[in-house]
Amino acid sequence: MTKTTSSINDLGNVLIRSDLNVPIINNNISDEYRIYKSLEILDKIYNYSRTITFSSHLGRPKKNSLDYSLEPVSKKMSEIINQKVNFIDEIYGKKVNESIENSESKLNLIENLRLHEGEVNNDDEFAKNVTFPFDTYIFDAFGASHRNHASVVSFGKYLDSYQGPLMNNEIEQLDKLLVNEKTGYVVLLGGAKISDKLSLIDNLLPKVEHLLIGGGMCFTFLKSMGYEIGNSLLEDSFISKAKELLNSEHGHKIVLPSDFGVTELIESELREDINIEDFRNNHIGIDIGPNTISEFASILLSSKNIFWNGPMGVFEIDKFSKGTQEITEIIAKSSAYTCIGGGDSVSAINKFSNIQYFNHISTGGGASLEYLEGKKLPGVNIYNSLII
Ligand code: AMP
Repeated sequence: MTKTTSSINDLGNVLIRSDLNVPIINNNISDEYRIYKSLEILDKIYNYSRTITFSSHLGRPKKNSLDYSLEPVSKKMSEIINQKVNFIDEIYGKKVNESIENSESKLNLIENLRLHEGEVNNDDEFAKNVTFPFDTYIFDAFGASHRNHASVVSFGKYLDSYQGPLMNNEIEQLDKLLVNEKTGYVVLLGGAKISDKLSLIDNLLPKVEHLLIGGGMCFTFLKSMGYEIGNSLLEDSFISKAKELLNSEHGHKIVLPSDFGVTELIESELREDINIEDFRNNHIGIDIGPNTISEFASILLSSKNIFWNGPMGVFEIDKFSKGTQEITEIIAKSSAYTCIGGGDSVSAINKFSNIQYFNHISTGGGASLEYLEGKKLPGVNIYNSLII
C-alpha cells in the first residue's frame, strides 16, 4: 500500500485527515490542543498546495446530528491562524467539489466524517466519493490511527498519499518508550471506564515495571479483591477479568490505591479522606487519597520513563481534583522521559501545570495505549512520510 513520492512541490488539491475531535460544550471548545497540533502541517505544505482541505471525525454521532458538526472547529482554526478556514457543511458531493474547484478559499474544512456511516464501516464507495476532488491525501490523525475506518485505511487508495508530520512525531516519541523497555517504564492509568482498557492491561503488564491504577477504574479491581467500595464506579461484568489479571504472572506489578477521597453525593462537593478498609456502603470514591499520592509519587519519581493516561479522580470539580493535580505536578517535576496519552490527562495538564514540563503530549489516548501494547495499528506507517 505504500506509495512512492511524486512531484512533491506541487501537491495540488490536498485532503488532510486530522484529528480535530475536541470537547465542545455549548459551542465552546474546552481543549484546543488537537487543533493547534493539526494546524502545524500548514507550515510544511501551504506553499506547495493549491487548496488544503481538512477532514476529521468528531465524537460518536448518530446520523445527521447537528450536535456533532465541525463548524465551531473551523471558526477556532480561523482564529488561531488568523486566516479564514472555510467550512463546507457536506462531506462529499457537488458543494464540496465546487468549493475546491473554484478555489473560493485556500483552506477548507469538510463536515464530520462520522456523520456518514461509510466512515466507520470502511466503505470503499464512500472513500471514492470523498477523495474525488483531490490530488493528494495526507494522513495525520494519530488519534484515529487505531481505527479500521475509511479515512484511515481506504482514502489513500485513491490518491497520492503520505503520512503527515504529526504522525511521524507521535511514532518517534512513543518509540522512545518502547526502546526504553530495557530501562523500564511505568504506566499510570486513570479515568472512568475499565472496559476499554482491560485487554490493554493484559498486554502491557509483561512490558512495564509497574502499572499504577487510579480513577474510577480501580474500583473494579478492589471489588474483585473483596473490598467494600460503596457506590463507587463498578463494571460488574469485568470483576472476574480484573481478578484474573491481579493473579496473573505479572499481577504483582499492579499498584492500587490504599486510600481515597470519598463523598456521599457528588453534587454536595463534600469530601472526606479514608482508608480503603473504612469504606461504607454509601461512599463514592471520587479521588485518590494522600497516602496513595505519596505511594504513587515514590514509584513515579524513581522511574526513568513514565506514560500517563486518565485522571485520578473527578478532577473537573475542585474538591475532587487534588489527586490529579498533585500527580500532574509530580510528573511535571520528574526527570524521567514523560509521555502523556491524550484526552483528559491533557486537560489536567492545562489546568494544573504547563505542557512545557512534559516530554511528549500525545494527541491520541486510545491510539497511544494500543501502540504501546505493541499492536500494529491500521493507520501507522502505511504511507511514505511526507518530506518537503
Ligand atoms: P475516561 O474517558 O475513561 O478517561 O474518563 C475520564 C473521566 O473519568 C473524567 O471525566 C473523570 O471525571 C472521570 N473519573 C475519574 N475518576 C473517577 C471516579 N473515581 N469516579 C467517577 N468518575 C471518575
